[in-house]
Amino acid sequence: MKNMPTILMDLDGVVFNILERWLRNYNALTGEGIQPENITEFGIHKFVKRPEIIYTEQVINDNDMMFCEFYPNAKEAIEKMMKIGMKIIFVTSTFYWCRISRTERLINEFGDVEICYLKDKSVIKGDYIIDDYEKNLIDSLNENPHIITVLVNQLWNKNCQAHIRVNDLMEFYEYLKIYRYGE
Ligand SMILES: [Mg+2]
Repeated sequence: MKNMPTILMDLDGVVFNILERWLRNYNALTGEGIQPENITEFGIHKFVKRPEIIYTEQVINDNDMMFCEFYPNAKEAIEKMMKIGMKIIFVTSTFYWCRISRTERLINEFGDVEICYLKDKSVIKGDYIIDDYEKNLIDSLNENPHIITVLVNQLWNKNCQAHIRVNDLMEFYEYLKIYRYGE
């Protein structure tokens, strides 16, 4: 068996579709009608009338961490990666008030997982970093010149740069399996 890679995996925008719930909660609270397709740049606060509440417990909380939906095939792709021996470290900045529920959710879904709560993801080493936010990839590459950066396509990162772009985690898994770590 080949040496399997360590993958630093972001959660929101990569594994979990948190944006829909986030906007639904915000709209219910404010009466606005912001839709996911309105978010065309990273940073939800740029697109709402009340940016001061968008990153607070009023709008995003434990319930959202426990019940947010996976992107299609995300769970299956992660399970396949784990099964063939790839090491996944979930790296996310998740608001501090929802970290316990998020941890519980990940353990419920995947069992014994490794999770790092970090704002600056560049302090952690891996072979690949997969994220939906270009800044995280660039920062990581600056600190770890050998890391391979992977961007998951989203409406808010159309013009961003990375070594590899994928539409979803299953596509990333297939890429790794066929081109890098296949038999
Ligand atoms: Mg993200």
